[in-house]
Amino acid sequence: MSEPILIAEDLSRFYTVRRGLMRGTATVKALNGVSFSLLPGRTLAVVGESGCGKSTLARQLTLVETPSGGHLKIAGVDVAVADHAALKALRPQVQMVFQNPYASLNPRKTVGATLEEPLKLNTALSQAERRERVAQMIEIVGLRPEHVRRYPHMFSGGQRQRVAIARAMILQPRIVVADEPTSALDVSIQAQILNLFMDLQQQLGTSYVFISHNLAVVEHVADDVMVMYFGSTVEYGDRQTLYSLPLHPYTRALLSATPTIRAEDRRAKIKLQGELPSPLNPPGGCAFHTRCPYAIERCRAETPPLRPVLGRLVACHRAEDVAAEEGVNVPLQGAVA
Ligand code: SF4
Repeated sequence: MSEPILIAEDLSRFYTVRRGLMRGTATVKALNGVSFSLLPGRTLAVVGESGCGKSTLARQLTLVETPSGGHLKIAGVDVAVADHAALKALRPQVQMVFQNPYASLNPRKTVGATLEEPLKLNTALSQAERRERVAQMIEIVGLRPEHVRRYPHMFSGGQRQRVAIARAMILQPRIVVADEPTSALDVSIQAQILNLFMDLQQQLGTSYVFISHNLAVVEHVADDVMVMYFGSTVEYGDRQTLYSLPLHPYTRALLSATPTIRAEDRRAKIKLQGELPSPLNPPGGCAFHTRCPYAIERCRAETPPLRPVLGRLVACHRAEDVAAEEGVNVPLQGAVA
């Protein structure tokens, strides 16, 4: 079995914010002790509502920000202790695809110039070699040769996202972090872009961290799924395990909000109460207790640890009760089978 290309251990990112005049400062724990790993050629989906910490995680993984705590190892390099040269060599290995392809592309540059730029900055290729690489990448992402001379405004949303994917892939990175890469696109185009991601993964062996607020979008691309709430992991496991029997009430609520055609996939609707709590005033105990239909007194007092239950990790005091509701009994720890 190959070594993980990405290992995060207890990764945290805290921000100090001003509360207002005469009220001092507060610490916002945007990312609070997240651990996971990613194998080469695999896809980890990170899912949660806006404000759950997934974009903060993306900024740590793409080396835009430095974590406040924990360990992050990318392609064998420990980011916390790596020197400037090691980090410089690492940056081309981790690329990003953004939600809005129009905002992420320079409107004054042709597609050809946009794709050539990373090659100029990071390789010793000649101009002819760079142009050849650009032409290959344009073809791989399903665009036509004449598109290299066009500007971003001359493309549809789906074509622009293809350009953005080509730019992320042109250096053949080991990891691509895709932050809601289909949510700004028409539904009819979303599937094409997801298929393109999967084709490229097969051809190039790239690992993906796929960030989304929508569990339905990632169902067909993810190998593993990590559900985040309020900066922490609440459920983490392989796709099949998580989708067939989600155990955390938050995962269940996200899944039940997903429209599905097949009647057997439909779940009882779990309506989330209220909004995400303010990060300036985090609730005690389980951070989800203010919105959770399963909450009991213990949830208000005790933070549930992330623990193994039925083949995944879940942070919920009542995971066994949720499983029992679905007719699945959890064997007692230490019991003889
Ligand atoms: Fe809900 Fe309690 Fe589980 Fe938190 S620990 S998700 S509040 S049941």
